[in-house]
Amino acid sequence: MKNLWNDGDAEKMVADYARKGVGGDLALRVYTTRLLGGEPRLVLHGGGNTSCKTKATDLLGDEWDVLCVKGSGWDMAVIEPQGLPAVKMGALLKARKLNKLSDEDMVALQRANLIDPSSPNPSVETLLHAFLPHKFVDHTHSTAILAIVDQEDSKPLVKTVFGDKMGYVPYIMPGFDLAKAAADVFDADPTVEGLILDKHGIFTFGDDARQAYDRMIHYVNVAEDYVAKHAKPKAAKATLPAKLATPASIAPMLRGAVAVARGEGRFDRMISDFRTSEAIVDFINSAAIADYAGRGVSTPDLSIRIKTGPMAVPAPDADKIGDYKAVIKSHVETFAKDYRAYFETNDALDDVKRTMLDPMPRLTLVPGLGMFGHGRTLKDAKIASDVGEMWIEAVRGAEAVGRFHPLSKADLFPLEYWSLEQAKLASNKPKPLTGQVVLITGGAGAIGAATAKLFADNGAHAVVVDLDAEKAADAAKKAGNNSIGVAADITDPAQVRAAFDRAVAVFGGVDILVSNAGAAWEGRIGELDDALLRKSFELNFFAHQSVAQNAVRIMLEQGTGGVLLFNTSKQAVNPGPKFGAYGVPKAATLFLSRQYALDYGAHGIRSNAVNADRIRSGLLTDAMIASRSGARGVSEKDYMSGNLLGQEVTAQDVAQAFLHHALAERTTADVTTVDGGNIAAALR
Ligand SMILES: [Zn+2]
Repeated sequence: MKNLWNDGDAEKMVADYARKGVGGDLALRVYTTRLLGGEPRLVLHGGGNTSCKTKATDLLGDEWDVLCVKGSGWDMAVIEPQGLPAVKMGALLKARKLNKLSDEDMVALQRANLIDPSSPNPSVETLLHAFLPHKFVDHTHSTAILAIVDQEDSKPLVKTVFGDKMGYVPYIMPGFDLAKAAADVFDADPTVEGLILDKHGIFTFGDDARQAYDRMIHYVNVAEDYVAKHAKPKAAKATLPAKLATPASIAPMLRGAVAVARGEGRFDRMISDFRTSEAIVDFINSAAIADYAGRGVSTPDLSIRIKTGPMAVPAPDADKIGDYKAVIKSHVETFAKDYRAYFETNDALDDVKRTMLDPMPRLTLVPGLGMFGHGRTLKDAKIASDVGEMWIEAVRGAEAVGRFHPLSKADLFPLEYWSLEQAKLASNKPKPLTGQVVLITGGAGAIGAATAKLFADNGAHAVVVDLDAEKAADAAKKAGNNSIGVAADITDPAQVRAAFDRAVAVFGGVDILVSNAGAAWEGRIGELDDALLRKSFELNFFAHQSVAQNAVRIMLEQGTGGVLLFNTSKQAVNPGPKFGAYGVPKAATLFLSRQYALDYGAHGIRSNAVNADRIRSGLLTDAMIASRSGARGVSEKDYMSGNLLGQEVTAQDVAQAFLHHALAERTTADVTTVDGGNIAAALR
């Protein structure tokens, strides 16, 4: 691992922060914290922590000795000075005399001694930092260090690898007890340059930021070199099928299998992030992969991300893909059963009241292909994949020098169910469409873009499909929530298939279809050019059928139901003069919606239509509004609000109707009118 310290960068950071009133100690603390945080082999997504002992002034002008320590919720890679709250040292040091301190009391003590009460909670490892006398303390969960400490008896190996310059701390759950034990190990030999924490990670310390950082990189390199030099020959590989199925063909099955059934056809769905590389596949193809996965996580705080460890499934045979759904299902059921047993066994050991988290895996290893991270959001799914990559590195290293033997699941349990984490989860309420993927055609138009935004605001990830790539990307960006834009001409079945493949590649599947794209052609029906009518049918009927077919194909693989929503139009029920080219295929689409409701209701797939009228959009442009209102001799305003309510109907109103149908779990074969009231077009 490269030492990234650079004198010029360090000096610049000190100078830049000095202008903002931040002292040199804290500026350098930010500098090396970012260097450590930017390296996934050291820390991942909020893992690890650093501190420095310095002085801070309170509002009264009194100066205090403080510990500036990483705050909970901050990522080391992008830390700012406010991510290192200052806690009064005197109180922290006094705590060492206590015999016992619960996690809740520890947090209370730390919060009560903050210089700025609006700071985030100081790290759970704050006391450990405080009890060490050094000005700068760094802590990481380096994968190379984990390769050494994730052994059945790591103490002699730690001694062999690091010699006398590193103290050895047996495994204790992070918190007050670990802080005291680590400080005792240091006090027994104050010449050490750092501490190796069994089954957990490494601390290094120094008189200045550079010394603590240099020591971290040095000892990580010592571990990396040892692993490289002492590696055993590679483990045997599993035999793979002659022809492997593709990740896209198994993603929806897997996504469906890990969805949490809430009963009565309702599910809490997850997003899947597929990740692969030569290194990932090489490791996952090991004959022992299921055994490794079953042993657990490489460092305890990963349990927050991937629970008790990954799930390994057999390689998918392309020739037996029909049987693979059942294979995945049985593996997920076994994982969930084991997880429930893990919870029940460990929960019964005391009388603390806990709520079991869902028992589904968060990381699936598929030999021959790669791995899938699962999470309620794309962000969480990607974090699970990131964790998976580092888990692989740590296990590979541990197996190279011995046998991967991480923390036992019994010891992991109090960490996964740490009271403070449970409180955090309870406050993290999902949105109505969290975990769901919506694909919207005509997604960059007025109604499509408003729908994408509304669905994303309600927790869904949107796949915005439009003819125009740039506009699709723009609408997706405006929708937010990691939505994506996809360019496709939806009258071309191959492009429709590609758009759905993209949704599967990025999110793992599709739950909601908003089949919205359309265009209007005019002319008296008896004199219509045949080619024009056929062209209109391609877009206003066959494209709806083509996207619905693809959506249903994926929904059936997932087995978690879904909803198809069609933008028919007022024309589907109430023809307008010279609008047959538009109205006739739209009427067919209205019946298409009912046919899907009839044919797929038993699979939990709902199908509904929204017939909107007179919406300012690409179909009804400002120029058309001017010409039509002029032709009728009414003002533009009167023309647009010429309905029973006397109010203009907007794209936002149509989006609201689509959202209603996405959420109305017991409504199918329905048509919702969004036109401000038009009695001639009212459905009987
Ligand atoms: Zn740690």
